Amino acid sequence: THTVLYDDALEADLAERLSTDAALRRALNTEGIVVHLQPIFDLRDGDARGVEALVRWEHDGELVPPVAFLGLAERNGLMPQLGREVIRQSLEVFAAHRRDLDSEFALWINVALVQLRDPAFPAWLAEQLDRAGVPATEVVLELSEGDVLEIDDVGDALVALRSSGIRIAMDDFGTGYSSLVRLHALPIDVVKLDRAFIAALADGGERARSVLEAAVQLADAVGLDMVVEGIETTEELETIRSLGCRFAQGYLLCRPGPADDVLAGLVGAMPVELTGVGSSPPPAG
Ligand code: C2E
Ligand code: MG
Ligand code: MG
Repeated sequence: THTVLYDDALEADLAERLSTDAALRRALNTEGIVVHLQPIFDLRDGDARGVEALVRWEHDGELVPPVAFLGLAERNGLMPQLGREVIRQSLEVFAAHRRDLDSEFALWINVALVQLRDPAFPAWLAEQLDRAGVPATEVVLELSEGDVLEIDDVGDALVALRSSGIRIAMDDFGTGYSSLVRLHALPIDVVKLDRAFIAALADGGERARSVLEAAVQLADAVGLDMVVEGIETTEELETIRSLGCRFAQGYLLCRPGPADDVLAGLVGAMPVELTGVGSSPPPAG
């Protein structure tokens, strides 16, 4: 069994322990990179409509979270290799289960800017999909808000990927310098609303709720799907349902877990519980 570490000082600590990036390089060449999956639920019926791949690093018997090593990987030029490994592993496990899941079920993969800057990336990905037998329409690539706005760099890649049927999600929406004036023109299909909007509800009262509501309406107005991240309580779930949010992710609904376990667990699963104490009926539509 493995311990999952959640420590703010972890990155510094780890960087210190690893005098070089040798251990990470070794991990990338062996079985050290592990993919966990977290389901994304449709709040209209409580069924999972996808899973997000979240990388972990198995190191010294510990399961290290990405916050502790992505920076290190980035600085050492290991992101392309790490990114390819995540894509390979997640496609393999997804391919093994996709036929037993909902026809709209998709695999969501986080990608780094450096991956999209590689002109060979779209063709490489197409080859991987082909090899795994996964249609492009069942894949969503997540790119952080700041990275999407590097549009001069990655615009061509995004356009090429989307023309193959892959969807693009803007991750961490609302946390960076959201360029609202460009939102309608970006080559994206979905926004993932950062957990910060949900966290703000706890002490932000009516105004925080209004900001959340405006964000939901904004996505709707420009024809983008929205996934709300970080739902931890039934109250938060009720709030986003009352605002008409369709897709959600969060510990309340399902925590990330080992890829095969999560997908196997979703096959034939009951819809997730949507009604809490004092809940309202599901929104129409
Ligand atoms: P993200 O893509 O925004 O992923 C959401 C993060 O929130 C994940 O953390 C997830 O475990 C966590 N989370 C899910 N539900 C809840 C909740 O209810 N409450 C709270 N507090 N957190 C929740 P994780 O797995 O540690 O990943 C952190 C970040 O690392 C990701 O944020 C993403 O930016 C990056 N990342 C993860 N995997 C990859 C990868 O394969 N490639 C790249 N480039 N980045 C990755
Ligand atoms: Mg993400
Ligand atoms: Mg996010």
